[in-house]
Amino acid sequence: MRATFLGTGGSVPTKKRNLPSFVVRTDGGLAMFDCGEGTQKQFLIAKLGFNREMKILVSHMHADHVLGIPGLLHSMSFMGRSRGLEIYGPPGIREFVKCTAETVRYRSMFPVRAVEVRAGTIARTDSYTINASWADHGVPCLAYTLVENDKPGRFYPGKARKLGIPKGPLWKTLQMGKPVRVGRKTIDASRVVGPPRKGLKITYAVDTRPCKRVVQLALGSDLLVHDGMFDSSASERAREYGHSTAAEAARVAKRSRSKNLALTHLSAIYDDTRQLLDEAKKLFPRTFLAEDLQSLELP
Ligand SMILES: [Zn+2]
Ligand SMILES: [Zn+2]
Repeated sequence: MRATFLGTGGSVPTKKRNLPSFVVRTDGGLAMFDCGEGTQKQFLIAKLGFNREMKILVSHMHADHVLGIPGLLHSMSFMGRSRGLEIYGPPGIREFVKCTAETVRYRSMFPVRAVEVRAGTIARTDSYTINASWADHGVPCLAYTLVENDKPGRFYPGKARKLGIPKGPLWKTLQMGKPVRVGRKTIDASRVVGPPRKGLKITYAVDTRPCKRVVQLALGSDLLVHDGMFDSSASERAREYGHSTAAEAARVAKRSRSKNLALTHLSAIYDDTRQLLDEAKKLFPRTFLAEDLQSLELP
């Protein structure tokens, strides 16, 4: 899996930070979390591919998280997208997508399905599952987690040869965890395949106060992408506007026993964001500041 930050600013863009959008590329296509204004340009630069399987998951209906959708759909139409696309989000998302489609004449249009969702399982594909929980932001706001399906275990060709299984379709069957028949014997996959490899888990929680439901959702994440909008001197402001300080994000990472924390939705008031990183790292050393167009290869 590959994770790419398209926009890491919050509320208003800066020279260095676009509005929120984060994309995970899986075997089963793209999962985009939020689509702030200008996402289409970042999407092009990151070369994510205009005609892949794709879902957009919107956290909430604040302008900085949704205004990029019409532009992205327009660009995709222009580039000749033909595959359908699903957009999930809290109540309001359907009306928003419908209104823009009716008032903005896209050049040609591929099927777009907008679905209003609540906490729970949002989507299941052959490669991953997406679950959601309510965050704490003053308006209905969802935090999402993408859990990659477990992968089959490692295949040992040496063991297969020893058991007299010829290379070819039988090896493939075993790799998929199914037994095969060789002569009169049935050979179980566990004799030549190691234990299943656990899928990765990525949690996206922006525009939220630190919150128990998010901690629950994020339990054991390989990567937690969390609102870290302010430094601790602005904690009153964070509380008032339903955001988190970098230190509060670090506590969520710690409580959820996440492995890595990315701070995002950073406020435009900071020219220098190092202070945010320092404050979070004191509590949770495996923290980094997300940067626009930064890509991570997740093993
Ligand atoms: Zn926001
Ligand atoms: Zn918001």
